[in-house]
Amino acid sequence: MSYSHILHEIFGYERFRGPQQDIIEHVGGGGDALVLMPTGGGKSLCYQIPAIARQRAGQGVTVVISPLIALMHDQVGALHEAGVSAAFLNSTLSGEEAYQVEQRMLRGDITLLYAAPERVTTPRFLAQLDALFERGQLSLFAIDEAHCVSQWGHDFRPEYRALTVLHERYAGVPRMALTATADDLTRADILERLQLQEARAFVSSFDRPNIRYTIVEKRDATTQLLRFVEREHPDEAGIVYCQSRKKVEDMAHTLCEAGIDALPYHAGLDSAVRQAHQDRFLREEGVVMVATIAFGMGIDKPDVRFVAHLDMPKNIEGYYQETGRAGRDGLSADAWMCYGLSDVVNQRRMIDEGPAEEAFKQSMRGKLEALLGLAEAIDCRRTRLLAYFGEASQPCGNCDNCLQPPAVWDGTQAAQMLLSTIYRIDKLSGISFGAGQLMDIVRGKKTEKVAQHGHERLSTFGVGANFSELQLRGVLRQLLAMGAVMVDVQAFNTLVLTAQSRAILKGEVPVLLRESVSLPKATKGRLTAGRTVVKAPIELDGVALQRYADLKAWRAEVAREHNLPAYVIFHDATLAAIAERSPQTMDDLQGISGMGVKKLEAYAQEVLRVVGAAG
Ligand code: ADP
Ligand code: ZN
Repeated sequence: MSYSHILHEIFGYERFRGPQQDIIEHVGGGGDALVLMPTGGGKSLCYQIPAIARQRAGQGVTVVISPLIALMHDQVGALHEAGVSAAFLNSTLSGEEAYQVEQRMLRGDITLLYAAPERVTTPRFLAQLDALFERGQLSLFAIDEAHCVSQWGHDFRPEYRALTVLHERYAGVPRMALTATADDLTRADILERLQLQEARAFVSSFDRPNIRYTIVEKRDATTQLLRFVEREHPDEAGIVYCQSRKKVEDMAHTLCEAGIDALPYHAGLDSAVRQAHQDRFLREEGVVMVATIAFGMGIDKPDVRFVAHLDMPKNIEGYYQETGRAGRDGLSADAWMCYGLSDVVNQRRMIDEGPAEEAFKQSMRGKLEALLGLAEAIDCRRTRLLAYFGEASQPCGNCDNCLQPPAVWDGTQAAQMLLSTIYRIDKLSGISFGAGQLMDIVRGKKTEKVAQHGHERLSTFGVGANFSELQLRGVLRQLLAMGAVMVDVQAFNTLVLTAQSRAILKGEVPVLLRESVSLPKATKGRLTAGRTVVKAPIELDGVALQRYADLKAWRAEVAREHNLPAYVIFHDATLAAIAERSPQTMDDLQGISGMGVKKLEAYAQEVLRVVGAAG
């Protein structure tokens, strides 16, 4: 059976995506590989198909090493649904259950075995691998989330270091390392730590064309988020990232009050609660997870329709990793971020106050600046993102700036007013002040605090009366992003000039800004009164839409019975294709993407009944 045969028959997919075929041929033929692919790129098939092919050729078991115990059950469940023999070994199994799995593995009854690194490197497990190896029944090692081996990566797991044993002990057994983390430092570290210097590297484009990037200016973040979810993603699954645990709790509460099915997730919650919330998010439809960055690694739910950031991440790597959790199924999805002056100030403060060495802080500041540059950008967001990862590209047509090019205004004069006021305040008072006072002075507002410090005597008092506070905030944000103003955290977040300020004061560097767009008007109540609208991933007419809704209801039942997430049974896109085609016979169901042989066998009758009943 050829690799593309396996793709059609078992997974029901028509063609390979990106470099999948090359990778599969290389590894299937016994080569070592390093696979760098963005989240949702389709890494799993890159080891699953070689594993199936090699098992059929009599080469035995593939061991998949993954740090994510909580997700192994669903990964294995998805393989079972496709008719592939798989199992996992982890601490959630009883001794007896684990023993049964080991016996099956030793008999060669398992094609893919999932285990965590700490399990793989135990003497007991190694002894079993030895036995398989001696009989030529150890087919392949797939090391998933391979960036965990590197302390430069963001999820360092010391247990990954011990995996060098595989190379030393099982010479000749092919190994592949897979990750979505791109930067050069981590990549080099993976190769060295796992002794994969000779491996062939497959680096995919990091573009995620189905994700639409939008970054809006923060006004009233809660209202902005509510409108975004209600308008764009009613009843759809999404993730909302917030920085603090408290904010996570508050926001989850607010969303619930607005009738959105939202759950909180952060490291401060009891682990049983966290697990329960994660399960609901994975298993049910349309759940919104409000979370800190503690949530997300390895979450392979394909139908997350949006990722929203209410606070700015630390850097572009983090932003891209988090937003990448949207739209793994390739259907359109949104990455939406709301950002404002306070984000800039907070992130700076966290770096400055952190315990790290100065050189490290300097690199963190550089990374933050790149992200601020993205947020303030007036050109294509995707081009900027990809450029950050070293990829050249053309304007994408699927980001806010491409879809609605922002009006730009020249804020140089306003910037000069702000900078010279900072300078003058310092000269007059000998101390610095924060953003509020600064803007009051420039706009000529005679507040108590202005009077108290005699600031109306400054020559710049009121020079910017014709600018709105919003405009000045925008200018200040840009100045912070450019490093032309610094926040002095030792002195109550006051603003101070930097070496870059001079060039702007002298008019050598222009300050160009996006025109602030006014908030869209509130929608009157929910879009649909009384009835939930079903949104299908493709255009469907009324009858087909009803079939789609019926199929979803049926799928939910099956998923519950099998104790698996709904998408493991069929993806939304598969159900929508069925609804559109309105099949009358088994034959009509063939060739629908996601409909492998095993699923056809197991579910065709039911599916025909469901669509038939819908008429
Ligand atoms: P990754 O691990 O790289 O984030 P996955 O392996 O989870 O990505 O794949 C993402 C989604 O894309 C999955 O739902 C998978 O079924 C689907 N997929 C992968 N390869 C193909 C393909 N060749 N055709 C259609 N769908 C695919
Ligand atoms: Zn664009």
